[in-house]
Amino acid sequence: PPAAELTAEAFDHMIFPLIPYADVKEHGPRIFVEGEGLRLIDANGKTYLDMMSSHTRANALGYGNEEIAASVYEQLRNLHYVGTVANLTEPAIELATKIASLAPEPLERVLFVSGGSEAVESAIKLAKQYQIGSGNKPRAYKVISRWNAYHGATMGAMGATDWLGIRHINEPGAVGYSFIPGPMNYRNPFGMETGAYMAFCAEYLEQQILHEGPELVAAFIAEPVMQANGVQVTPPSYFQRVREICDKYGVVWIDDEVITGFGRTGNWFAIERPGVAPDIMTFAKALTAGYMPMGGIIARPEIADSMPIFRHVHTFSGHAGAAAAASAAIRIMERDRLVEKVRTDGVYFLNALTRELEPLPIVGEVRGAGFWVAIDFTSDKRSKAAFSDDTVKAVAARMAEDGVLASAIGTAIEMAPPYVATRSDLDHTVEVAARAIREISKERGLA
Ligand code: PLP
Repeated sequence: PPAAELTAEAFDHMIFPLIPYADVKEHGPRIFVEGEGLRLIDANGKTYLDMMSSHTRANALGYGNEEIAASVYEQLRNLHYVGTVANLTEPAIELATKIASLAPEPLERVLFVSGGSEAVESAIKLAKQYQIGSGNKPRAYKVISRWNAYHGATMGAMGATDWLGIRHINEPGAVGYSFIPGPMNYRNPFGMETGAYMAFCAEYLEQQILHEGPELVAAFIAEPVMQANGVQVTPPSYFQRVREICDKYGVVWIDDEVITGFGRTGNWFAIERPGVAPDIMTFAKALTAGYMPMGGIIARPEIADSMPIFRHVHTFSGHAGAAAAASAAIRIMERDRLVEKVRTDGVYFLNALTRELEPLPIVGEVRGAGFWVAIDFTSDKRSKAAFSDDTVKAVAARMAEDGVLASAIGTAIEMAPPYVATRSDLDHTVEVAARAIREISKERGLA
């Protein structure tokens, strides 16, 4: 059907989450019909270079991967699904074994779910049931999270969430959550120098545990790199200190690697950089390169084995077709050395963006980790003030007009290309970003 017809049907029959309805009405939904590698074609026949890995950063290996599609097809034909709990298939067991071999030691025990929010729900429940089951803290139920964190949209995961505007309207939510300041680069609410602010954020965790009552605090949850206002890279000392504090007070540290896991930052998991192991790690997105919906958690044995029954279940836990997709995606990442490629090409991309964009009057800072980069904007380089109008969104929109998909995220524009992006894709993107920023600056009298 033609684009106009598809759009009309979408408006008649679909709900658009998270985006102002007026925006979709004005600009229409983006309807895509075909993809190959990094290229996406929309219903009007326009081709885009997808530098966001399908908007959510999940599509780590690009479109049209025959190898993953064939693995899923074979698995679905042979045995698509056998139930949940202790009903298992070979692909799920093999995948759990593989993930345990890639994850930081001593993480060993895997539970599969269908996405990131379910992974966070599972991690929080496991942490609480561990505190009770082990007898360490029978009354512990509180979870500490951070300002600007995003951990998902289901009620338990949303309890730990403070970003994308989904929390307040949905309150009252699950009880027991509190928030501490989270790592921010370039600017922070206290106007502190970045290094000092990061150290302050880590120390704040100890004060919050004391304030909430250590015997009541079950878990601390954190993304190793926050998405809020674009790719908040954190010095290794932050998580090293988090590890010490959690050990001191018997608090389970949940490392939420839903975005960062499986190569995004140039390591299998971002927490490899500070070199400290969490107690439970969550993952989703790049696990299957987005070819099937799947997430999971991996936990230390003493946590997973601490209770006679882990009281929790999801129908599609360990779905064989999703497991086949994940195993194929991991096989490709290993065989083609894509995690190493992300690390080296990530530096190349970051250097080029920094060189070309940071001198521009409205660019405050360019930062990144592997294939996840942010351009943070400012209306005033001296005060680092954020734009209060739609300038950042306008730059992303101009890039899309020019055929490159990037996302506005608060004060920044973010890009997270598939790991198979070539240097020429990266060079082209730098060029398009620079042109869009120059044009928007000129049109708005900001140059
Ligand atoms: N945790 C983090 C760090 C995320 O970024 C997200 C989603 O972006 C989630 C959890 C929730 O994952 P999902 O949207 O798959 O439920």
